[in-house]
Amino acid sequence: MERWVGKVAVVTGASSGIGAAITVALVQAGLQVVGLARRKHKIDELAKNLSDKPGKLYSIATDVTKETEIIDAFDWIKNNVGPVHTLINNAGIIRGTNLIDGSTSLWKETFDTNVLGLCIATREALTNMRANKVDGHIIHINSIFGHHCSKAKFFNVYPASKYAVTALTETLRRELNSNNSKIKVTSISPGLVKTDIGLNGGVLDLKTWKEFLSTLTFLNPEDVAGAVMYALATPPHVQIHELTIKPVGER
Ligand code: NDP
Repeated sequence: MERWVGKVAVVTGASSGIGAAITVALVQAGLQVVGLARRKHKIDELAKNLSDKPGKLYSIATDVTKETEIIDAFDWIKNNVGPVHTLINNAGIIRGTNLIDGSTSLWKETFDTNVLGLCIATREALTNMRANKVDGHIIHINSIFGHHCSKAKFFNVYPASKYAVTALTETLRRELNSNNSKIKVTSISPGLVKTDIGLNGGVLDLKTWKEFLSTLTFLNPEDVAGAVMYALATPPHVQIHELTIKPVGER
C-alpha cells in the first residue's frame, strides 16, 4: 500500500459497519480519507480514535440521495483536501418492502441510495480524477445479491438494486476503456456481514434480526475492508473486476 500513502480516498457510508471498517483500514495505511454519511458525528468519533494513525480522516455530512449534497462534498474535497485517488461506493440500505404490495417511497429510497447515489458519487469522483489526471480506482461495495436473489423474504427489492450495481460496474469499465482511461473499477460482493444493516431503517425488529443472525455464519466488516485493501494494493496494470467474499460454510 506504499504508493497510496498520502493519497485521497472518499468513502460513502463511513459512519458504521463495512464503511467504518474500510475507513479505519485506509487511515491506518496512511491515506487521507474523507468519510461521507448523514451521521457525521459517528465519523468524527472514528477520527478521534484514529488520531495517532499515519493517515487523516475528514468527515462531511452527506445524504447520498441528495445530488447537491454529493456535489458540494466533492467541491469541498477539491478545495480543502486535494485530488481524489479512490472512491469507495459503500453507502447502502435494505428496506422492508416487497414488490407485490410494497411502498413506492421505500423502493425509491432503496434505488436513490444504492444506485443513484453511487452513480452521482462516481461521476463527481471521475470529474475530479480526470481534471487532475489521476489514474484512480472506483470500488463498489456490491453484494452476493447483486448476482443472485436472496431466499430470505425480507430482502425484497434489495437484490434488484445490487443487480444494478453489477451492471453499472461493467458499464463504467467499458466507458472508461473506450476512453483509454487507466482508472480501475472493482466490484466487491460480500456474503452476509455482521453489521446493523437489517436494523438501520427498521426493516426488522431486534428479535427477528437476532434470530436470523443466529442461524448463519458471518463475515466481519474488517474482512470486507481487507478485500478493499487487496484490490487497491494491486499493481497499476492489474485490475480486479469482481471479488466475491463469503464466510466459510456459506454456499
Ligand atoms: P450499515 O447499515 O452498518 O451501514 C450503511 C452505511 O450507509 C452507513 O454508514 C450509513 O450512514 C450509509 N448510508 C445509508 N443511507 C445513506 C444516505 N442516504 N446517505 C449517506 N449515507 C448513507 O450497513 P453495512 O455496513 O452492512 O452496509 C454497507 C454496504 O455493504 C451496503 O452497500 C450494503 O448493501 C453492503 N453489503 C452489506 C452486507 C451485509 O451483510 N451487511 C452484505 C453485502 C453487501 P448514515 O446512516 O450515517 O447516513
